[in-house]
Amino acid sequence: MSKIISTIIAFFLSANTYTVVYMQESGEETEQTTIITEDIVQKIPKEKISPIKAVSGNPAETTTKSSWWSYPSNIKQVTRSGDDLLVLVNKEYQLPSTYAPTDLVSICNNVTNVRCVNNTNFLIRNIVISDLQEMVNAATNDGIDLSIRSAYRSYTTQQSTYNYWLSMNGGNVGATDQVSARPGHSQHQLGTAIDFSSGEINDGLSGTFASTKASKWLADNAWKYGFVIGYPAGYESVTGYMYESWHYRYIGKTNAQDMVNSGMILELYLRSLN
Ligand SMILES: [Zn+2]
Repeated sequence: MSKIISTIIAFFLSANTYTVVYMQESGEETEQTTIITEDIVQKIPKEKISPIKAVSGNPAETTTKSSWWSYPSNIKQVTRSGDDLLVLVNKEYQLPSTYAPTDLVSICNNVTNVRCVNNTNFLIRNIVISDLQEMVNAATNDGIDLSIRSAYRSYTTQQSTYNYWLSMNGGNVGATDQVSARPGHSQHQLGTAIDFSSGEINDGLSGTFASTKASKWLADNAWKYGFVIGYPAGYESVTGYMYESWHYRYIGKTNAQDMVNSGMILELYLRSLN
């Protein structure tokens, strides 16, 4: 346990000067560079870090910093259908390249009070629409501005996106794997993941979203509408990804309530069910 904690602390100390090129998650593949500053790191609430003890009994890939971001040598196929809201998709479990949801619809043709950045025709599964509208309405009533930067991405789009970031990182696979999923390993292929932004940061997609009122609102309220954060702060060693304050996955209201009751983050909650 103490070894794990010291590893976590070492990460946060080094994170002060960590330069991260965040994955641009729109189909347009424009890019944005962000530096994680000490300021942002220090804003991570202690309570979001402390439950890290929950990983002490988990697989070997979570025990050393160098392997946090790595893919296991034995990649497995997902154990549930891609259509299943509780399917585990991570660095170990991969969706088939042929998987695509069959009920994709346009977000901004179906949901009001939310902006699709650059008028992009972002797609999401139809089963998400009703709860998304309810969440956006609640946010709007609370004076929160939400925009959408990305939603569904096909296997092929993810492949080109990953390769783009691999190129941006000079071919450094380890660095790329911290911020971008390889094709088949992205929650965006499910059609239930959304990257949010806000007018507070001019609809940008970067670590600065963590400092917005919109981010705080989502962290406090999104689960009530079935949306949960995919890659929370302090759990990099569990998820294998840098903190993404903007990335939420829809698992449905009942499941989200169950997850919150369990005290687990999404990754561990889904591991317990897959
Ligand atoms: Zn995302």
